[in-house]
Amino acid sequence: MESHIDQAIAAIEKSGGAGDPLAIATARGIVRAYARHYSDDDFVVKAVEDEFVLPLLNPTTGQEHREWHLGGKRDAIIEDKQGIYIMEHKTTSSDIGPQSWYWRGLTIDNQVCLYLIATFSEQPRGVLYDAIKKPGIKPRKLTKAEAKTLDEDRTYFGRETPDDFASAGLYGTKETPSLYECRLQAEYESDGHRFFGRRVIPRLDDKLVEHLAHFCLIADDMDRCRGDERNYYCNPKSCNAYNSRCEYLDLCTGHDHPESETWATRNRGFSDDKPELTMTASSIDCFLQCRRKHHYRYGLRIEKLRKQESPALYFGKLVHEGLASLLLSKGAING
Ligand code: SF4
Repeated sequence: MESHIDQAIAAIEKSGGAGDPLAIATARGIVRAYARHYSDDDFVVKAVEDEFVLPLLNPTTGQEHREWHLGGKRDAIIEDKQGIYIMEHKTTSSDIGPQSWYWRGLTIDNQVCLYLIATFSEQPRGVLYDAIKKPGIKPRKLTKAEAKTLDEDRTYFGRETPDDFASAGLYGTKETPSLYECRLQAEYESDGHRFFGRRVIPRLDDKLVEHLAHFCLIADDMDRCRGDERNYYCNPKSCNAYNSRCEYLDLCTGHDHPESETWATRNRGFSDDKPELTMTASSIDCFLQCRRKHHYRYGLRIEKLRKQESPALYFGKLVHEGLASLLLSKGAING
């Protein structure tokens, strides 16, 4: 088990590069605790980071849409004694307790339904939603007792620290990323059920048929917009969604234009050989949130040049890399 954790830690560090050391340390602590929390997992890993593209079928006529396809990338496909599941990892700041709102509504979530539709021929039992709660703690100053233990034993919250402290006198100094990692891991391990939650979102065929019909309607709306750009109307209520300013605000308010040097071409996020008109869960959600935003992001495919990756995205990517590595190791064992 420990060698698989080491591989996951190496994957996090490789992905993190020269980025934020605190985010990298946080991801390491969480993934270590995760691996131990789920050390009894009894399933076979059939695929990891599994990309798909399929025709968009009209559930009433059985006809393929003339242009649009459905696409995405499933974190993993797994199988246990009950059957096949699609596994999706999520990091979240929300409460993931059993009674929390977090789990409600997932039966009609676009991503959940899209992945179940894409995997339908294998008759999956559902999507195993694997949520990890982000930490609520930050680095803090060491107490006298902690500094003494660290100085004498070179341990912090039960773990040997990799830091090379030159001398004593650590009391009152702030935790380094590695020390914070030790405390964070201890908290996640001691209170695993608060930080790690899983739930199977079952496959409900009537809901999937309904959802497929919705995808067809959305594809028709997208076609209408492509036919006349004026149909990509703005939704000003979304400009500051989740307290984050939309990156296209300057375009919408006439302070910039798409041909200016502010903008770079976005990576498609898909292999180049895939059909141009492929709807993913993200592109569908974006279209439903604001058509104008969808036009910039998925039509013109532009994004802010030299845009700093958001800390939340960077952190999510690190955890994701660690979890993918754990699954790959498990796949190799099953293999
Ligand atoms: S693209 Fe939409 S969400 Fe973004 S600034 Fe324009 S109107 Fe607002």
